[in-house]
Amino acid sequence: MNVVAARGSLAQRGMQLDTICPLCGNSVESIFHMLISCEDAKRIWYLSPLRLLVDYYEGNSFREWCCSVRKSHKDPSWWNLFWSILWGVWLRRNAWVFEGRKRDVAASSSWHDQINTDAAVSSTLGVGPGGVMRDTEGDVVVSTCLRWSGKVEADVAEALAMRHALAITLDSGFNRVCLETDCLKLHNHLVKGRAPPTEFGLVVNDILHLTLRCQVCSFSFVKRAGNRVAHELAKLSFSFDDLRVWMEEVPLGISNFVMDDMKLLFD
Ligand SMILES: [Zn+2]
Repeated sequence: MNVVAARGSLAQRGMQLDTICPLCGNSVESIFHMLISCEDAKRIWYLSPLRLLVDYYEGNSFREWCCSVRKSHKDPSWWNLFWSILWGVWLRRNAWVFEGRKRDVAASSSWHDQINTDAAVSSTLGVGPGGVMRDTEGDVVVSTCLRWSGKVEADVAEALAMRHALAITLDSGFNRVCLETDCLKLHNHLVKGRAPPTEFGLVVNDILHLTLRCQVCSFSFVKRAGNRVAHELAKLSFSFDDLRVWMEEVPLGISNFVMDDMKLLFD
C-alpha cells in the first residue's frame, strides 16, 4: 500500500520528518489525506468533472474509501477519469513540496484570478459559451465550455458565457476575480451595475447578483485579439454535447499506462 512516500508512513518507519500536510498544515499527511481528504484535495475533487464530494463516502484509508465509492460508481470511464484526476492531485502536491508552487485562494490581498469569457453562436449548432480562469501568474486554473441549443443574440450569448464561467469559478471556491470580456456592451453594463429589462439585461443582472458572492471583483474590457483562449474554448463547445470543465495539471490526454501505474501503487 504505502509505496508512495507520504510523510506519515515514512515517519512510522522511524524517519524524522515533518508529518504535517504541507498543503493545509492541519493534519498528518497520510496517503489518504494527501490525495483525498485534505481540504485542498477535496476542492479539486469537487471542482473536477466528477463533482465528487469526498465526505459523502466512508473510509479511513484510501482503500476503504475507494471501496465505498465503488458501491456508487461502476462505470469504467468514470474510473478512468478518477485515476486521471488522482494523478493531477499528486502532481499538484509535488509541485508544492518540491518546487514551492502553490495556488492559494488567500495568498495576498491583491491576489485575484482573471476570468476571460467568450461565446460562439451558430444558427445550426446553438450557443457555445467558453471561459478560462487564470491565476496571477497567468497559469490556467480552470477552463470550461458548454453547449446550449437554441438561438440568442450575440450580446446575450456573451453574457451567458460570463455567467457560466463565474458560476463555475465560485462553485470551485475562488472568489477574488476580474471578469474580462471582449463585448464592450456587456462590460459597460457590468461597470454601471445595472441593465435594461431585456433578455440581455436579465443575464447581466444574474452576473451582478453572482458578484455579490465575490470577496474581490473587478471588470475589464479586452480586444478580441487578447481573448483568444476563451474564444477557442467557445468554438470547442460545439464538439461536445454537454458541460466540460478542465482542471490545471489534470492531463486528460495522459496515456493509459500511466493510469495503470497509479493503480498499481494502491493495490
Ligand atoms: Zn492537508
